[in-house]
Amino acid sequence: MPGDSATRSRDLRTGVPVWLPDGDRGGLGALPTESINTDVAIIGGGISGALLADAALAAGREVVVLDRRGFSLGSTAASTALLQFELDTPLTVLSERIGKERAARAWWRSASAVDALRGRIADLGLRCGFRERNTAYLPGNVLDAAGLRDEAQARARIGLRSQYVDADALRDLTGIERPGAIWSAGAGELDPVKLTRGLWRSAVDRGARLLAPADVLDIAPTRQGVTLSVEGGIEVRAKHVALATGYELAKILKPKGYKVITTWAMATWPQKRSLWPSRCLIWEAADPYLYLRTTLDNRILIGGEDEEFSDDQARDRLIPRKIETLRRKLSKLMPEADDRVDFSWTGCFGASSTSMPAIGPVPGAERCFAVLGYGGNGITFSMIAAQMFQRMLLGIDDPDAELFALR
Ligand SMILES: Cc1cc2nc3c(=O)[nH]c(=O)nc-3n(C[C@H](O)[C@H](O)[C@H](O)COP(=O)(O)OP(=O)(O)OC[C@H]3O[C@@H](n4cnc5c(N)ncnc54)[C@H](O)[C@@H]3O)c2cc1C
Repeated sequence: MPGDSATRSRDLRTGVPVWLPDGDRGGLGALPTESINTDVAIIGGGISGALLADAALAAGREVVVLDRRGFSLGSTAASTALLQFELDTPLTVLSERIGKERAARAWWRSASAVDALRGRIADLGLRCGFRERNTAYLPGNVLDAAGLRDEAQARARIGLRSQYVDADALRDLTGIERPGAIWSAGAGELDPVKLTRGLWRSAVDRGARLLAPADVLDIAPTRQGVTLSVEGGIEVRAKHVALATGYELAKILKPKGYKVITTWAMATWPQKRSLWPSRCLIWEAADPYLYLRTTLDNRILIGGEDEEFSDDQARDRLIPRKIETLRRKLSKLMPEADDRVDFSWTGCFGASSTSMPAIGPVPGAERCFAVLGYGGNGITFSMIAAQMFQRMLLGIDDPDAELFALR
């Protein structure tokens, strides 16, 4: 990839994610051959771009989307796709940092985005293995059992569907031996590649033009519109541009408190024995945290072991060690599980100091909108971005615009 692109170039992932057993297959998108005028241009063919495109099409806008790799081939393909409303920073901790009211709004917006995404998947009839799930949040070095009780109460006080469950209930629900956990309703799981490809197919049916490989080299905003210079000498001129470039940050963005780190994940062979009865999503109040879910073909996905660097060579060298650590942790947590590794992969991951995303108009760049869905619930944040983008196109104020604003 050329060094003079409008975004940073990164090697986003290594290994074979469970969603791509036959390797990367782009398929969607055509090479750009001529300059184009459009209402909305979106840079990025992952889940963020797909949801933004859906929102713009639903608002009656003409949409062109560009991706330099191919559609659904960036970080989205590496996602373990736990669809959660729970932010990585507990409500009690976030309340101390940004105030109770703002923290409550962030948590509630996240909860309503999961609901909205579930509804959109149903509306469009997307077959992406969506299943509604509960979540078990286990004690760790961020919150111990007493801290989890307080956290559950704080959530319940603002109307979120979380409660503290004791060791016996946790054992019945998950088979896990811990002093207790927070049990929450309203999460989900899905196949992120099927979801994203389904959204792109639906977008194409509604007239969207998908261009790939198409590297956007320059973004030139003016009051009247934005011109994108694309590799090969093509221009895309749009009334609005959305930057959905994931962890390859656009150079016109200088967000504070956001960083790209590294994470690892694995999928077991399909389990012969039955899985935990609730098939809930499981994660820990720890830093870094471990998380687990199941797949429709009875595998266990487990991820975590995050490191604070983004160097891809160091990341790849660590694959055997990190995957072995994940396997051992699974075996300790669930001694009955078949812990043989069938898929393993690693990739870039985004973190923010509050675990909140940055979404909204780009300061100093007229008519440009960006989504930085950094944090453990990146997909939920992509949905929030789609809602906010649609409102912006329609000229409607979003009540949480200031909460998530890019600064
Ligand atoms: C291992 C792992 C596990 C995760 N688990 C979860 C989870 O359980 N739940 C959850 O909600 N989130 C999870 N996430 C986070 C989530 O996957 C991401 O937030 C999400 O996939 C980001 O999607 P995106 O569309 O923003 O980025 P991407 O999918 O990376 O798409 C961005 C696209 O922009 C394109 N692009 C960049 N620059 C240019 C340019 N100059 N011109 C043209 N195209 C360009 C890239 O080629 C890329 O295809 C996880 C991530 C990882 C890596």
